Amino acid sequence: MESGTLLQDSLAQAMIEAGALFHRRGWVPATGGNFSARLSSQQVLITASGVHKGELKRDDFLVADMDGQPLEAGRKSSYETGLHMQLYRRDPTIGAVLHVHTIANTVLSRRLDRIELSGYELLKLLPGAPDPAARVEIPVFGNDQDIARLSARVDAHMSERAKFPAYLIAGHGLYAWGDNVAQARHRVEALEFMLECELWSGR
Ligand SMILES: [Zn+2]
Repeated sequence: MESGTLLQDSLAQAMIEAGALFHRRGWVPATGGNFSARLSSQQVLITASGVHKGELKRDDFLVADMDGQPLEAGRKSSYETGLHMQLYRRDPTIGAVLHVHTIANTVLSRRLDRIELSGYELLKLLPGAPDPAARVEIPVFGNDQDIARLSARVDAHMSERAKFPAYLIAGHGLYAWGDNVAQARHRVEALEFMLECELWSGR
């Protein structure tokens, strides 16, 4: 279907540009990180397994269903697809999910079991546009190679706690999301700026 293809092309292009920016910042080393965008209530466009996120091409994306199963035979989506799908299933307003591996988020998530951000102007970019004086908590989950188990822990935490705008996986990386790729990218930039400030402050 032509319109579906055009939508896929424009979402892929937005993620290619986000990947190039993140690569320039050193946020997607080697084949780390993964990106996705919602195509419909039933389908998501997501990066394929093992590709470099700073040098993405149109063919490096595939369409998956809401269980993360690729719709094209023989293709394999990112290892962490289940973490993306948990967010799309949980919140129908989420249009894009971006995951990066940075020095700031890796160091801080190894030291702390949650990160409180307060006093930052850029907090206003997060969901609900918190007042910069508010305290915003970013949870840190233990790293786990069992993605189904890890996504179940994230989902349980979302049921138990007030909404959080993003989360960290210890020694691993940041997951952030938004209504669309541009908003998710701005949130990654805002969060990584604040996490770098935390790191520089000696947290
Ligand atoms: Zn990762």
